[in-house]
Amino acid sequence: MQLSGELLLTLQEVDERLAAKQQELDQLNADLEAQAEIPVLTERAEQERENAIERRAHLARLEVDADALRERVEELEERIYGGTVTNLRELTAVEEEQANARRELMQAEESLGPARLAAEDSERAREDLTETLAEREKTWAESAPKFRRQAKAAQKEVTILEEERAEASRNVPADELTLYDQLLFRRHGVAIARVERGVCQACHITLPLKEASRLRRSDGIVTCGNCGRILIPS
Ligand SMILES: [Zn+2]
Repeated sequence: MQLSGELLLTLQEVDERLAAKQQELDQLNADLEAQAEIPVLTERAEQERENAIERRAHLARLEVDADALRERVEELEERIYGGTVTNLRELTAVEEEQANARRELMQAEESLGPARLAAEDSERAREDLTETLAEREKTWAESAPKFRRQAKAAQKEVTILEEERAEASRNVPADELTLYDQLLFRRHGVAIARVERGVCQACHITLPLKEASRLRRSDGIVTCGNCGRILIPS
């Protein structure tokens, strides 16, 4: 038991280093994949560009409509004041038409302002995003090689630690290794706990006397009744 206790302790120590290195590698890979948000920003910039185009087109349509209405109003006014219409009924009809056209023109002119502002906002947002994106791309281009080197190095170390783990677990009895692996998973990477003065150092619960004496006698594997970890005498 003493022997496999030592083996398990060594295994635990390797596993802790392996978990830390694996976490570092995962983070590096996540950063590489996210590429400083460049794909997200690119998509947003593209959306903003489409937005700007749409709003500019909308504004242009409104301007064309307003111009047409302005012309129409002028044309009708010419007819009213030009003296070409002599018939009173026709004059009344033209005047009515002119009043309608004027009203429509006013409405069209009222919507021009907000449409112009919206188009400008879109354009500004697009410019800002393009600028941010360019900055990010520049920074990323500078830092990416370093990230890739770090990820590669971390991957190498993970592989070495995995070999070290295989080596460390080679002489651990199969049933103990199974228990250890289960605990490693359930107890978030810490399967082993030392016992000091009869207290489990992982969960700080005092062991029953019977268990404590079993542990002292190295009588088979002893687990903590509370946290379930494999206990090792200090
Ligand atoms: Zn415990």
